[in-house]
Amino acid sequence: MFDLKPELVKKREAGLYRERRLNTSAQGVYGVIDGKRVLSFCGNDYLGLANHVDVKQAFVDAVSSYGVGSGSAHLINGHSQLHHECEQRLAEFTGRDRALLFSNGYMANLAIASALLGRRDIVYQDRLNHASLIDGAKLSGARLIRYRHNDVKHLQTLLTKSASAPRSMLMTDGVFSMDGDCADLVEISALCASHDTCCMVDDAHGFGVLGENGGGLLQSLHLDQHQVPILMATLGKAIGTSGAFVAGSNDLIETLIQQARPYIYTTASPPAISAATLCSLDLVERESWRRHKLAELIEYLRQGLSRLGFELTDSNTPIQPIIVGDNIRALALSDGLFEQGILVSAIRPPTVPQGSARLRITLSAAHEKADIDRLLSALKKIKFLASC
Ligand SMILES: *Cc1c(COP(=O)(O)O)cnc(C)c1O
Repeated sequence: MFDLKPELVKKREAGLYRERRLNTSAQGVYGVIDGKRVLSFCGNDYLGLANHVDVKQAFVDAVSSYGVGSGSAHLINGHSQLHHECEQRLAEFTGRDRALLFSNGYMANLAIASALLGRRDIVYQDRLNHASLIDGAKLSGARLIRYRHNDVKHLQTLLTKSASAPRSMLMTDGVFSMDGDCADLVEISALCASHDTCCMVDDAHGFGVLGENGGGLLQSLHLDQHQVPILMATLGKAIGTSGAFVAGSNDLIETLIQQARPYIYTTASPPAISAATLCSLDLVERESWRRHKLAELIEYLRQGLSRLGFELTDSNTPIQPIIVGDNIRALALSDGLFEQGILVSAIRPPTVPQGSARLRITLSAAHEKADIDRLLSALKKIKFLASC
């Protein structure tokens, strides 16, 4: 075995060492982490559905009927009636012809790029895209061209000057996962259309949260399947369950089923997850109060942060980062909050660009204004640690 120690020591010295905290409670805004009761502001369970009584019951009932494991891949005998219904529901929910379930979002993104693109093709990506989109592009072998974050002018320049390729695709986060701002999709999708480039959006953080009935960023911008032919979103965040899906035309879905190795060569997710997802989607669609409450909480937090002198970012979503810059200082701030019983994780490179370490605060509809007051007063106490 080679000597792994020096790299580990270097990581620790640079403030880049990652440690897992042990959660001994149910998912929610109150929990027990490393044995300490905490109020959490770092989950992606934006609507508070991961521990919802109806969603849990749907899961338990389905386990009683279908068992736990799916037994095999979708193309062998793992494609259950529950997966099938969930796909139909997701297609209807997003206004697309069809949808295809994946075990998780990481694999869905690997699948899209690798099934649709090859060495002679080009893929354009935002500099701040999620790692899974970048990894998908690498796996496909296509030429990866990255444009400055949400910079439509820069994208236009690159689209115009790039040599033509058999296929050209643009892939972008809808809501940027570490910044909370939204891609300028009205302009981006129009640019794609005029440059014969297929527009793909990863709406992991918008799905369930944005749009009139939770259909996501594309629903809120009224962008249809023609304008954004490939929609991907995850089910482990606002939906509160697990997995992901791709939605689009019948030919897109059939091509993924035939070609996408991250789809073909893996065991289907437990069918009961789909039963829980179906239940959660009903709640997301019917009970818009969670989205309205979330919007109020976001506004309340932003006003409070601004009063304390923190610089706000351009985000109107539940992701509200405080950019700190230095890795070690970001860790110190996170630890300072933890000592006061508040969990906010420090996000460091390579998850975010060098020099932009941050506290990534996220809100959930399960928070109350009193919770935000607690966060704000804890932040006030530790503010002297930061030059932000
Ligand atoms: C979380 C996330 C993923 C990965 O989804 P998983 O289901 O957690 O694997 C993909 N893209 C974005 C933008 C994400 O935030």
